[in-house]
Amino acid sequence: MTKEKVYYGKDIEVMFNSDVCIHSGICVKGLPGVFNLSKRPWIDPDADTSEGIARHIDTCPSGALTYKLLDGKYSTRKEDEHA
Ligand code: SF4
Repeated sequence: MTKEKVYYGKDIEVMFNSDVCIHSGICVKGLPGVFNLSKRPWIDPDADTSEGIARHIDTCPSGALTYKLLDGKYSTRKEDEHA
């Protein structure tokens, strides 16, 4: 069973899979207002623009973080990873 959790925002849904995370810390260092381990829930998908959060999630090296933009412009994940 996968340990993926979903954090629901107004414009973006953020998914986090703790089984995949390699604890690089990139998410919390880059966007501390959104990814804050001292808060519960630790991800606040409304604390920045959905675009900004999406672009930052694209830098997660393990793929533990993924997202879905609710305006339908981007579906999710790193489809263009090898482009
Ligand atoms: S950036 Fe990705 S791999 Fe690094 S701590 Fe955050 S979720 Fe885990």
